[in-house]
Order: sequence, then C-alpha cells, then structure tokens
Amino acid sequence: MVRLFGSLDTNARFSAHSECPLLRGAEECKSDWQAPAANAESIEDRKPRFLLCKTCLHRVTAENARTEVQGKHVHVFCNPYGLVFEIGCFGAAPGCAPLGLPSLEFTWFPGYEWQVGVCRGCRAHLGWRYIAVHGGEFYGLILANLVGE
Ligand SMILES: [Zn+2]
Repeated sequence: MVRLFGSLDTNARFSAHSECPLLRGAEECKSDWQAPAANAESIEDRKPRFLLCKTCLHRVTAENARTEVQGKHVHVFCNPYGLVFEIGCFGAAPGCAPLGLPSLEFTWFPGYEWQVGVCRGCRAHLGWRYIAVHGGEFYGLILANLVGE
C-alpha cells in the first residue's frame, strides 16, 4: 500500500498499467510491475483475524476460514433436547478437536456425519466437525462460544 501511493513515480506506473495488471492478471505485466503493490495489499487483506475460545482464549479458527454450506454461513438448529444453536461454518478450525466416532444420527447437514468438537485449550464444547460422506469436511462452530482476537 505504501509503495502504491508513496511516490509520483509509483503512481505513474500504476496508472500506466491500471487497465492491465489487476484486471487481466497477465504474466507479461509482471516484469514491468516489480514491487507488486496490489499483491502486498491482498496479502494484508488475507492476514488472519483469529477467533478464540470464549472460555480460555485459545485460537480456534480465523475470520478468513468462514465459509458457506448449503448457501449460508450461519445456520440455526435445534438439537433433540430442544437446545438452540447458532452456528457458523468454517473450512478449518485447527483449535477445535473432534471427539468420538462420526455419526449420521440427527445430522443437521444431510450427507454429513458429525463429531463433537471441543477446544484444544480447555475442552469446552465449541461445535461440531462435519465430514461429507463423499469427501470434504467443515466445522460448524457455536458463534456464541467464540470471541474475536
Ligand atoms: Zn477453550
């Protein structure tokens, strides 16, 4: 970002190529475009903001791991005991440990087996790991049990 706006020269360079490198992403532009400011910026955007266990502040997942399953990130479900959970879907949750054998019983996501997921720091219940019968997995985490870093 600093490079992009830092000097006239850089600005000139940027405008000279403004129709090309970002939109086309073509290889030919790369040689001209030393110091890829646009890339630096997107790396900045991708810098993870972690989500922590509310109980012990262990890092569970990151904002950029949020994903959509069946068209939505947030799902609200009721378990067989009448408890309501608002869960967010995450492609990965390294701080969440799956427990027990995967089960299809009462699954909230058809075609996915679930395992209980607990915090690797304090073992608090954080949500569930969902494993697709045909491959792939995600974590459904109880949003009320997570806090931002
Ligand atoms: Zn914890």
